[in-house]
Amino acid sequence: MPVLSSKSYRVGRSSTGLGLFATQPIKKGTKIIRYFGPLLDSKNKKHDAIENKYLFQLNDRWTIDGSVRKNVARYINHSCKPNAESDVNPRKKRVIIRSVRKIEAGDEIKYDYGTEYFKAYLKPIGCKCESCEKKRAKKKAEARAEKAALKAKVERKAERKAEKAKLLKNGKAVKVSAKVSAKAPKKAAPKKAAARKLAKKPTGKTAKKTPAKKKAGAKARVAR
Ligand SMILES: [Zn+2]
Repeated sequence: MPVLSSKSYRVGRSSTGLGLFATQPIKKGTKIIRYFGPLLDSKNKKHDAIENKYLFQLNDRWTIDGSVRKNVARYINHSCKPNAESDVNPRKKRVIIRSVRKIEAGDEIKYDYGTEYFKAYLKPIGCKCESCEKKRAKKKAEARAEKAALKAKVERKAERKAEKAKLLKNGKAVKVSAKVSAKAPKKAAPKKAAARKLAKKPTGKTAKKTPAKKKAGAKARVAR
């Protein structure tokens, strides 16, 4: 039943579970594998009740139930930017997976499952195809870069602020020390004066102490 020799592909581990991989280069436009299974008639109530992830709708009436084990094509995963496509022939009730570009040996074969499947099964959990992962990674990187830029901006601002504060502080320190040195003699003068006053006071309670009296006496003698 396979269109291409089954030696051209193998089932293997994919990022989302199992997938179908090319074991040799496949040219663009090659019919790779048929997607097959029992035909379900929508007019048949029993058929219509069947529900699984491998239903491939051919038209309003006919659907292929691809969940059968022999249908190796059911391993092919979805991609929003695929290297293969599903070639549907409703009249013949046949689906063939065909390469839309050259596929290298080792590459996973993928086709676009279509918007209906995407909306029903992939959108709710987030499409894991390499195209969507790339987009997600790009968005993340952009968000990271934006955050880093913002952080750098805040840091630069803080740095500038700190520098300003430092400059201001240094300026103040200079001013303060200038004030102190300018004030120092003035301040020292009243202190000395107070000391002198204290010493001169002969009648104060503290002035009754002998050294003050002596000094006062000496001064008085000098004055005479
Ligand atoms: Zn995708």
